[in-house]
Amino acid sequence: MSDRLSRAERRNLQRLDAEILPRPLPMTQDPRPVAAHIRHVVKLLRTPQSKSPCSDAIAHVTGLFDRTVPEPANRMIACSKGCSYCCTQMVVLTAPEAFFVAAQIRHKKQTVAAILEAAAQVGALSLDERLKAKVFCPLLENALCSIYAARPLGCHGFVSTNLDACLATFTRGEAATTSMPSDTINVLYAVRMLLTAALRLASLDHAHYEMLSALAAILTQENAEARWLAGENILAAVQPGPPAPAQFEQVISQLVAFTAPTV
Ligand code: SF4
Repeated sequence: MSDRLSRAERRNLQRLDAEILPRPLPMTQDPRPVAAHIRHVVKLLRTPQSKSPCSDAIAHVTGLFDRTVPEPANRMIACSKGCSYCCTQMVVLTAPEAFFVAAQIRHKKQTVAAILEAAAQVGALSLDERLKAKVFCPLLENALCSIYAARPLGCHGFVSTNLDACLATFTRGEAATTSMPSDTINVLYAVRMLLTAALRLASLDHAHYEMLSALAAILTQENAEARWLAGENILAAVQPGPPAPAQFEQVISQLVAFTAPTV
């Protein structure tokens, strides 16, 4: 017997998904809402008529993050407009997130040049070396993120409840003591696992990369996104970040197994 869905089952699932997709992600053990988003992200990644399938997929995931973080967690944060002390640290992201960022800046020659320069300068440094180098992200303009709506998930999720701790870590070089609301961290983990599961189900590279090096590789290659979506390893020269911790790996594998028959 086939474990694939019948046409009627698929129609029913699409109706249920349409109800789930605009809502915040329920932070429960129920895999069904997560599976609805995974199916949707896979569908977006497989829409060749889109100008940038990766941008569509990541816009969905980051929008989901934003509407899922509970308001009390947002009220705890000390971050405010123009506060950019943390934008000297290393950002890691998946290839689709990098394509989303690249799509915002490709036409800005000065920004592209600044990214290539910064990637050569600090792209290969370790986390600690990068913190010590204190080189600001070239995407900052007048202390504001110039790609704010398209910033990577790591930047969306990196918030602090204590400005003094940020100043200590990022300006005085003291041991890291920044603290994030646990609800924000949990939502960040949930959407990252969802994205990884979708990339696996779409048979796409799901590694994490250092942002500046990945952007430099993408911005200097023709049709980078289309080639990556077709399976070409256009980020082969970029050092991948560490793999997901074992407990995440287990959840991602369960999500992949649960969703696979419906994709
Ligand atoms: S992408 Fe934006 S938020 Fe992230 S480090 Fe760069 S300037 Fe800061």
